[in-house]
Amino acid sequence: MDFTLSEEQLMIKQAAKDFAQSELLPGVIERDETQTFPNELVQKMGQLGFLGMMVNEKYGGSGLDTLSYVLAMEELSKVDASASVMVSVNNSLVCWGLETYGTEAQKEKYLTRLASGEIIGAFCLSEPEAGSDATSQKTTAIDKGDHYILNGTKNWITNGNRAEVYLVIAQTHVEKGHHGINALIVEKGMEGFEIGPKENKLGIRGSDTHSLLFNDVKVPKENRIGEDGFGFKFAMKTLAGGRIGIAAQALGIAAGAYELALQYSKQRKAFGTEIANHQAIAFKLADMHTKIQAARHLVYQAACDKDAKRDYTLSGAMAKLYASEVAMETAIEAVQVHGGNGYVKDYHVERLMRDAKITQIYEGTSEIQKIVISRSILKD
Ligand SMILES: Cc1cc2nc3c(=O)[nH]c(=O)nc-3n(C[C@H](O)[C@H](O)[C@H](O)COP(=O)(O)OP(=O)(O)OC[C@H]3O[C@@H](n4cnc5c(N)ncnc54)[C@H](O)[C@@H]3O)c2cc1C
Repeated sequence: MDFTLSEEQLMIKQAAKDFAQSELLPGVIERDETQTFPNELVQKMGQLGFLGMMVNEKYGGSGLDTLSYVLAMEELSKVDASASVMVSVNNSLVCWGLETYGTEAQKEKYLTRLASGEIIGAFCLSEPEAGSDATSQKTTAIDKGDHYILNGTKNWITNGNRAEVYLVIAQTHVEKGHHGINALIVEKGMEGFEIGPKENKLGIRGSDTHSLLFNDVKVPKENRIGEDGFGFKFAMKTLAGGRIGIAAQALGIAAGAYELALQYSKQRKAFGTEIANHQAIAFKLADMHTKIQAARHLVYQAACDKDAKRDYTLSGAMAKLYASEVAMETAIEAVQVHGGNGYVKDYHVERLMRDAKITQIYEGTSEIQKIVISRSILKD
Protein backbone atom coordinates (compact mmCIF):
# COMPACT_ATOMS: atom_id res chain seq x y z
CA MET A 1 0.00 0.00 0.00
CA ASP A 2 1.18 3.49 -0.78
CA PHE A 3 0.57 5.77 2.17
CA THR A 4 1.97 8.90 0.53
CA LEU A 5 -0.13 11.74 1.86
CA SER A 6 -1.77 14.24 -0.48
CA GLU A 7 -1.21 18.00 -0.18
CA GLU A 8 -4.61 18.33 1.45
CA GLN A 9 -3.91 15.56 3.97
CA LEU A 10 -0.57 17.13 4.87
CA MET A 11 -2.30 20.47 5.40
CA ILE A 12 -4.87 18.90 7.72
CA LYS A 13 -2.15 17.15 9.70
CA GLN A 14 -0.29 20.46 10.03
CA ALA A 15 -3.47 22.36 11.01
CA ALA A 16 -4.18 19.80 13.76
CA LYS A 17 -0.57 19.98 14.94
CA ASP A 18 -0.64 23.80 15.06
CA PHE A 19 -3.94 23.80 16.94
CA ALA A 20 -2.65 21.21 19.42
CA GLN A 21 0.52 23.20 20.10
CA SER A 22 -1.02 26.66 20.27
CA GLU A 23 -4.42 25.95 21.84
CA LEU A 24 -4.38 22.55 23.54
CA LEU A 25 -0.92 22.45 25.08
CA PRO A 26 -1.34 25.57 27.24
CA GLY A 27 -3.50 24.50 30.16
CA VAL A 28 -3.48 20.77 29.45
CA ILE A 29 -1.99 19.98 32.87
CA GLU A 30 -4.56 22.15 34.69
CA ARG A 31 -7.46 20.68 32.70
CA ASP A 32 -6.28 17.20 33.64
CA GLU A 33 -6.02 18.18 37.29
CA THR A 34 -9.37 19.95 37.48
CA GLN A 35 -11.23 17.56 35.15
CA THR A 36 -12.45 20.45 33.01
CA PHE A 37 -12.47 21.44 29.37
CA PRO A 38 -13.62 24.96 28.47
CA ASN A 39 -16.44 25.42 25.98
CA GLU A 40 -14.38 28.00 24.06
CA LEU A 41 -11.87 25.29 23.13
CA VAL A 42 -14.66 23.03 21.92
CA GLN A 43 -16.03 25.91 19.86
CA LYS A 44 -12.60 26.50 18.32
CA MET A 45 -12.37 22.82 17.37
CA GLY A 46 -15.77 23.19 15.71
CA GLN A 47 -14.75 26.36 13.86
CA LEU A 48 -11.66 24.60 12.52
CA GLY A 49 -13.82 21.73 11.26
CA PHE A 50 -12.47 19.03 13.60
CA LEU A 51 -15.90 18.00 14.87
CA GLY A 52 -17.48 17.02 11.55
CA MET A 53 -14.46 16.07 9.50
CA MET A 54 -15.98 13.29 7.40
CA VAL A 55 -19.50 14.71 7.13
CA ASN A 56 -20.61 15.82 3.68
CA GLU A 57 -20.34 19.57 3.17
CA LYS A 58 -24.06 19.80 2.47
CA TYR A 59 -24.64 18.92 6.15
CA GLY A 60 -22.06 21.40 7.41
CA GLY A 61 -19.11 18.99 7.57
CA SER A 62 -15.65 19.20 6.03
CA GLY A 63 -16.22 16.32 3.56
CA LEU A 64 -12.82 14.76 4.23
CA ASP A 65 -11.71 11.15 4.04
CA THR A 66 -11.01 8.83 6.98
CA LEU A 67 -7.26 9.08 6.46
CA SER A 68 -7.42 12.86 6.99
CA TYR A 69 -9.46 12.25 10.12
CA VAL A 70 -6.91 9.83 11.60
CA LEU A 71 -4.08 12.23 10.79
CA ALA A 72 -5.85 14.95 12.77
CA MET A 73 -6.68 12.51 15.58
CA GLU A 74 -3.02 11.52 15.87
CA GLU A 75 -1.83 15.12 16.13
CA LEU A 76 -4.49 16.17 18.66
CA SER A 77 -3.88 13.05 20.77
CA LYS A 78 -0.14 13.70 20.98
CA VAL A 79 -1.03 16.65 23.19
CA ASP A 80 -4.50 16.16 24.66
CA ALA A 81 -6.36 12.86 24.48
CA SER A 82 -9.32 14.42 26.32
CA ALA A 83 -9.84 16.76 23.36
CA SER A 84 -9.37 13.97 20.85
CA VAL A 85 -11.93 11.64 22.44
CA MET A 86 -14.50 14.39 22.04
CA VAL A 87 -13.50 14.68 18.39
CA SER A 88 -13.61 10.91 17.97
CA VAL A 89 -17.04 10.35 19.53
CA ASN A 90 -18.61 13.27 17.68
CA ASN A 91 -17.11 12.29 14.32
CA SER A 92 -17.04 8.53 14.16
CA LEU A 93 -19.94 7.54 16.35
CA VAL A 94 -22.49 10.33 16.36
CA CYS A 95 -22.05 12.11 13.00
CA TRP A 96 -21.15 8.99 11.04
CA GLY A 97 -24.05 7.03 12.53
CA LEU A 98 -26.54 9.78 11.71
CA GLU A 99 -25.20 10.49 8.24
CA THR A 100 -25.10 6.81 7.28
CA TYR A 101 -28.37 5.60 8.78
CA GLY A 102 -30.43 8.68 9.69
CA THR A 103 -33.40 10.07 7.79
CA GLU A 104 -33.12 13.30 5.84
CA ALA A 105 -35.16 15.04 8.53
CA GLN A 106 -32.85 13.75 11.28
CA LYS A 107 -29.81 14.91 9.33
CA GLU A 108 -31.26 18.37 8.83
CA LYS A 109 -32.33 18.71 12.43
CA TYR A 110 -29.29 17.23 14.18
CA LEU A 111 -26.39 16.41 11.88
CA THR A 112 -25.86 19.91 10.54
CA ARG A 113 -25.45 21.33 14.05
CA LEU A 114 -23.30 18.43 15.21
CA ALA A 115 -20.99 18.56 12.21
CA SER A 116 -20.33 22.29 12.59
CA GLY A 117 -19.60 21.84 16.29
CA GLU A 118 -22.50 24.07 17.28
CA ILE A 119 -23.56 21.18 19.50
CA ILE A 120 -21.84 17.97 20.63
CA GLY A 121 -23.19 14.44 20.62
CA ALA A 122 -22.86 11.33 22.77
CA PHE A 123 -23.14 7.64 21.98
CA CYS A 124 -24.89 5.64 24.69
CA LEU A 125 -24.54 1.88 24.57
CA SER A 126 -22.87 0.78 27.84
CA GLU A 127 -24.88 0.02 30.95
CA PRO A 128 -24.06 -1.17 34.46
CA GLU A 129 -24.65 -4.76 33.29
CA ALA A 130 -23.93 -4.40 29.59
CA GLY A 131 -20.36 -3.48 28.68
CA SER A 132 -18.49 -5.99 26.55
CA ASP A 133 -21.71 -7.98 26.35
CA ALA A 134 -23.67 -5.20 24.71
CA THR A 135 -26.55 -7.53 23.87
CA SER A 136 -27.61 -7.54 27.56
CA GLN A 137 -29.41 -4.20 27.27
CA LYS A 138 -31.65 -3.47 30.24
CA THR A 139 -32.70 0.00 29.08
CA THR A 140 -36.12 -0.33 27.50
CA ALA A 141 -37.84 1.67 24.77
CA ILE A 142 -41.48 0.59 24.81
CA ASP A 143 -43.43 1.22 21.62
CA LYS A 144 -46.45 3.43 22.32
CA GLY A 145 -47.56 4.04 18.75
CA ASP A 146 -46.18 7.44 17.78
CA HIS A 147 -43.49 7.47 20.48
CA TYR A 148 -41.31 5.31 22.71
CA ILE A 149 -41.13 5.40 26.49
CA LEU A 150 -37.50 5.11 27.53
CA ASN A 151 -36.42 3.77 30.92
CA GLY A 152 -33.02 2.71 32.23
CA THR A 153 -29.44 3.74 32.97
CA LYS A 154 -26.43 4.21 30.72
CA ASN A 155 -22.89 4.17 32.10
CA TRP A 156 -19.59 5.76 31.19
CA ILE A 157 -20.96 8.14 28.61
CA THR A 158 -18.31 10.37 27.01
CA ASN A 159 -19.55 13.97 26.56
CA GLY A 160 -22.20 12.92 29.07
CA ASN A 161 -22.96 16.42 30.29
CA ARG A 162 -21.58 18.51 27.44
CA ALA A 163 -23.69 16.83 24.76
CA GLU A 164 -27.02 18.13 23.52
CA VAL A 165 -27.88 15.07 21.44
CA TYR A 166 -27.60 11.45 22.61
CA LEU A 167 -27.83 8.32 20.46
CA VAL A 168 -29.32 5.84 22.94
CA ILE A 169 -29.48 2.09 22.41
CA ALA A 170 -32.44 0.36 24.10
CA GLN A 171 -34.40 -2.86 24.05
CA THR A 172 -37.90 -2.69 22.52
CA HIS A 173 -38.82 -6.34 21.91
CA VAL A 174 -37.22 -8.44 24.68
CA GLU A 175 -38.34 -11.70 23.05
CA LYS A 176 -36.33 -10.89 19.91
CA GLY A 177 -33.03 -10.51 21.81
CA HIS A 178 -30.56 -8.28 20.04
CA HIS A 179 -32.85 -8.15 16.98
CA GLY A 180 -35.32 -6.27 19.17
CA ILE A 181 -33.01 -3.37 20.01
CA ASN A 182 -33.48 0.21 18.73
CA ALA A 183 -31.31 3.32 18.51
CA LEU A 184 -33.08 6.54 19.47
CA ILE A 185 -32.08 10.20 19.27
CA VAL A 186 -32.63 11.76 22.69
CA GLU A 187 -32.28 15.48 23.35
CA LYS A 188 -30.93 17.03 26.52
CA GLY A 189 -33.83 18.53 28.44
CA MET A 190 -36.41 15.89 27.49
CA GLU A 191 -38.60 15.31 30.52
CA GLY A 192 -37.38 12.43 32.69
CA PHE A 193 -33.81 12.54 31.31
CA GLU A 194 -31.24 13.13 34.07
CA ILE A 195 -27.47 13.35 33.93
CA GLY A 196 -25.64 11.51 36.72
CA PRO A 197 -22.46 12.66 38.48
CA LYS A 198 -19.15 13.00 36.65
CA GLU A 199 -16.75 10.06 36.95
CA ASN A 200 -13.41 10.79 38.64
CA LYS A 201 -11.05 9.05 36.24
CA LEU A 202 -7.45 7.85 35.96
CA GLY A 203 -6.92 9.45 32.56
CA ILE A 204 -8.59 11.55 29.85
CA ARG A 205 -9.71 13.62 32.81
CA GLY A 206 -10.65 16.65 30.70
CA SER A 207 -13.32 14.53 29.01
CA ASP A 208 -16.59 14.44 30.94
CA THR A 209 -17.85 10.92 31.55
CA HIS A 210 -21.26 10.49 33.18
CA SER A 211 -23.99 7.98 33.78
CA LEU A 212 -27.37 8.89 32.31
CA LEU A 213 -30.77 8.12 33.78
CA PHE A 214 -33.96 7.77 31.77
CA ASN A 215 -37.21 7.79 33.66
CA ASP A 216 -40.28 7.52 31.39
CA VAL A 217 -38.70 9.72 28.73
CA LYS A 218 -41.06 10.22 25.79
CA VAL A 219 -39.10 9.95 22.54
CA PRO A 220 -40.96 10.61 19.26
CA LYS A 221 -40.89 7.73 16.80
CA GLU A 222 -39.32 9.91 14.12
CA ASN A 223 -36.23 9.89 16.38
CA ARG A 224 -35.61 6.18 15.80
CA ILE A 225 -32.58 5.50 13.60
CA GLY A 226 -33.25 2.89 10.90
CA GLU A 227 -35.93 0.22 10.85
CA ASP A 228 -37.51 -1.26 13.97
CA GLY A 229 -34.91 -3.64 15.50
CA PHE A 230 -31.91 -2.10 13.72
CA GLY A 231 -30.37 -0.67 16.92
CA PHE A 232 -27.85 -3.38 17.72
CA LYS A 233 -26.57 -3.56 14.16
CA PHE A 234 -26.40 0.23 14.18
CA ALA A 235 -24.25 0.15 17.32
CA MET A 236 -21.91 -2.55 15.98
CA LYS A 237 -21.48 -0.91 12.57
CA THR A 238 -20.82 2.46 14.18
CA LEU A 239 -18.32 1.06 16.66
CA ALA A 240 -16.43 -0.74 13.89
CA GLY A 241 -15.57 2.68 12.46
CA GLY A 242 -15.20 4.29 15.86
CA ARG A 243 -12.36 1.91 16.61
CA ILE A 244 -10.31 3.44 13.81
CA GLY A 245 -10.60 6.80 15.59
CA ILE A 246 -9.58 5.30 18.93
CA ALA A 247 -6.71 3.46 17.23
CA ALA A 248 -5.56 6.85 15.89
CA GLN A 249 -5.92 8.30 19.38
CA ALA A 250 -3.71 5.51 20.76
CA LEU A 251 -1.20 6.11 17.97
CA GLY A 252 -1.10 9.80 18.86
CA ILE A 253 -0.56 9.13 22.56
CA ALA A 254 2.31 6.75 21.67
CA ALA A 255 3.85 9.21 19.21
CA GLY A 256 3.52 12.09 21.68
CA ALA A 257 5.22 10.10 24.44
CA TYR A 258 7.97 8.98 22.07
CA GLU A 259 8.68 12.52 20.85
CA LEU A 260 9.01 13.75 24.43
CA ALA A 261 11.29 10.84 25.35
CA LEU A 262 13.47 11.40 22.29
CA GLN A 263 13.85 15.09 23.03
CA TYR A 264 14.59 14.50 26.72
CA SER A 265 17.15 11.79 26.01
CA LYS A 266 19.19 14.22 23.94
CA GLN A 267 19.25 16.83 26.72
CA ARG A 268 19.55 14.93 29.96
CA LYS A 269 23.07 13.96 30.91
CA ALA A 270 24.18 11.08 33.14
CA PHE A 271 27.70 9.66 33.53
CA GLY A 272 29.13 12.49 31.45
CA THR A 273 27.01 12.08 28.35
CA GLU A 274 23.45 12.52 27.06
CA ILE A 275 21.37 9.55 28.15
CA ALA A 276 20.56 8.82 24.47
CA ASN A 277 24.19 7.69 24.20
CA HIS A 278 23.53 4.87 26.65
CA GLN A 279 22.49 1.91 24.59
CA ALA A 280 19.74 0.90 27.02
CA ILE A 281 18.01 4.22 26.31
CA ALA A 282 18.77 4.25 22.58
CA PHE A 283 17.27 0.75 22.23
CA LYS A 284 14.12 1.83 24.04
CA LEU A 285 13.77 4.63 21.48
CA ALA A 286 14.42 2.19 18.64
CA ASP A 287 11.68 -0.14 19.91
CA MET A 288 9.24 2.72 20.37
CA HIS A 289 9.90 4.11 16.89
CA THR A 290 9.51 0.72 15.22
CA LYS A 291 6.30 -0.21 17.02
CA ILE A 292 4.75 3.22 16.44
CA GLN A 293 5.45 2.96 12.72
CA ALA A 294 3.90 -0.52 12.64
CA ALA A 295 0.84 0.79 14.50
CA ARG A 296 0.64 3.74 12.12
CA HIS A 297 0.52 1.40 9.13
CA LEU A 298 -2.30 -0.61 10.70
CA VAL A 299 -4.25 2.58 11.44
CA TYR A 300 -3.73 3.97 7.92
CA GLN A 301 -4.68 0.61 6.42
CA ALA A 302 -7.96 0.55 8.34
CA ALA A 303 -8.70 4.16 7.32
CA CYS A 304 -7.93 3.37 3.67
CA ASP A 305 -10.16 0.27 3.84
CA LYS A 306 -13.01 2.44 5.07
CA ASP A 307 -12.38 5.07 2.40
CA ALA A 308 -12.23 2.41 -0.34
CA LYS A 309 -15.50 0.92 0.99
CA ARG A 310 -13.77 -2.38 1.79
CA ASP A 311 -14.73 -4.26 4.95
CA TYR A 312 -12.82 -2.62 7.80
CA THR A 313 -14.03 -4.76 10.72
CA LEU A 314 -10.81 -6.80 10.84
CA SER A 315 -8.37 -4.03 9.97
CA GLY A 316 -10.04 -1.62 12.44
CA ALA A 317 -9.92 -4.17 15.27
CA MET A 318 -6.26 -5.01 14.55
CA ALA A 319 -5.38 -1.32 14.44
CA LYS A 320 -7.07 -0.64 17.78
CA LEU A 321 -5.66 -3.73 19.49
CA TYR A 322 -2.09 -3.06 18.41
CA ALA A 323 -2.04 0.74 18.61
CA SER A 324 -3.46 0.69 22.14
CA GLU A 325 -0.81 -1.84 23.25
CA VAL A 326 1.88 0.34 21.71
CA ALA A 327 0.42 3.43 23.40
CA MET A 328 0.55 1.80 26.83
CA GLU A 329 4.01 0.33 26.34
CA THR A 330 5.49 3.49 24.83
CA ALA A 331 4.05 5.77 27.49
CA ILE A 332 5.44 3.57 30.30
CA GLU A 333 8.87 3.55 28.65
CA ALA A 334 8.72 7.31 28.08
CA VAL A 335 8.23 7.75 31.83
CA GLN A 336 11.26 5.50 32.39
CA VAL A 337 13.40 7.55 29.99
CA HIS A 338 12.47 10.67 31.97
CA GLY A 339 13.50 9.08 35.29
CA GLY A 340 12.13 11.03 38.28
CA ASN A 341 10.96 13.82 35.99
CA GLY A 342 8.71 11.30 34.28
CA TYR A 343 6.84 10.85 37.52
CA VAL A 344 5.71 14.46 37.83
CA LYS A 345 3.14 16.37 35.85
CA ASP A 346 5.31 19.07 34.24
CA TYR A 347 6.89 16.67 31.77
CA HIS A 348 3.54 15.40 30.36
CA VAL A 349 4.53 11.73 30.03
CA GLU A 350 2.83 10.60 33.26
CA ARG A 351 -0.44 12.04 31.88
CA LEU A 352 0.07 10.29 28.55
CA MET A 353 0.66 7.04 30.46
CA ARG A 354 -2.62 7.47 32.34
CA ASP A 355 -4.44 8.49 29.15
CA ALA A 356 -3.06 5.50 27.20
CA LYS A 357 -4.85 2.95 29.38
CA ILE A 358 -8.34 3.89 28.25
CA THR A 359 -7.54 3.01 24.63
CA GLN A 360 -7.32 -0.65 25.70
CA ILE A 361 -10.76 -0.44 27.29
CA TYR A 362 -13.33 1.69 25.46
CA GLU A 363 -15.04 0.96 22.16
CA GLY A 364 -14.31 -2.71 22.83
CA THR A 365 -11.58 -3.93 25.19
CA SER A 366 -8.44 -5.59 23.84
CA GLU A 367 -9.96 -8.96 24.69
CA ILE A 368 -13.04 -8.10 22.62
CA GLN A 369 -10.83 -6.96 19.71
CA LYS A 370 -9.18 -10.40 19.82
CA ILE A 371 -12.63 -12.00 19.62
CA VAL A 372 -13.45 -9.85 16.57
CA ILE A 373 -10.11 -10.64 14.94
CA SER A 374 -10.19 -14.37 15.64
CA ARG A 375 -13.79 -14.69 14.42
CA SER A 376 -12.88 -12.88 11.26
CA ILE A 377 -9.84 -15.03 10.48
CA LEU A 378 -11.55 -18.29 11.45
CA LYS A 379 -14.72 -17.78 9.45
CA ASP A 380 -13.11 -18.54 6.06
C1 LIG B 1 -13.65 6.75 30.21
C2 LIG B 1 -14.66 5.88 29.55
C3 LIG B 1 -15.42 6.38 28.51
C4 LIG B 1 -16.39 5.58 27.92
N1 LIG B 1 -17.21 6.12 26.96
C5 LIG B 1 -18.28 5.40 26.53
C6 LIG B 1 -19.27 5.99 25.68
O1 LIG B 1 -19.17 7.17 25.29
N2 LIG B 1 -20.35 5.26 25.33
C7 LIG B 1 -20.52 3.97 25.74
O2 LIG B 1 -21.52 3.36 25.37
N3 LIG B 1 -19.59 3.37 26.53
C8 LIG B 1 -18.49 4.06 26.93
N4 LIG B 1 -17.55 3.47 27.76
C9 LIG B 1 -17.76 2.10 28.20
C10 LIG B 1 -16.74 1.12 27.62
O3 LIG B 1 -16.98 0.93 26.26
C11 LIG B 1 -16.83 -0.17 28.44
O4 LIG B 1 -16.25 0.14 29.71
C12 LIG B 1 -16.11 -1.32 27.80
O5 LIG B 1 -16.80 -1.74 26.65
C13 LIG B 1 -15.95 -2.51 28.74
O6 LIG B 1 -17.16 -2.83 29.37
P1 LIG B 1 -17.21 -3.02 30.96
O7 LIG B 1 -16.57 -1.85 31.58
O8 LIG B 1 -18.60 -3.34 31.35
O9 LIG B 1 -16.26 -4.25 31.25
P2 LIG B 1 -16.71 -5.81 31.23
O10 LIG B 1 -17.48 -6.09 30.00
O11 LIG B 1 -17.32 -6.14 32.52
O12 LIG B 1 -15.29 -6.50 31.12
C14 LIG B 1 -14.44 -6.73 32.24
C15 LIG B 1 -13.24 -7.52 31.75
O13 LIG B 1 -13.66 -8.80 31.24
C16 LIG B 1 -13.20 -8.96 29.91
N5 LIG B 1 -14.19 -9.73 29.13
C17 LIG B 1 -15.53 -9.51 29.06
N6 LIG B 1 -16.09 -10.41 28.22
C18 LIG B 1 -15.09 -11.19 27.75
C19 LIG B 1 -15.03 -12.29 26.86
N7 LIG B 1 -16.10 -12.78 26.22
N8 LIG B 1 -13.82 -12.87 26.62
C20 LIG B 1 -12.70 -12.38 27.22
N9 LIG B 1 -12.70 -11.34 28.09
C21 LIG B 1 -13.87 -10.75 28.33
C22 LIG B 1 -13.04 -7.55 29.38
O14 LIG B 1 -12.16 -7.51 28.26
C23 LIG B 1 -12.49 -6.83 30.60
O15 LIG B 1 -11.12 -7.07 30.69
C24 LIG B 1 -16.55 4.25 28.33
C25 LIG B 1 -15.75 3.74 29.36
C26 LIG B 1 -14.83 4.53 29.98
C27 LIG B 1 -14.03 3.97 31.12
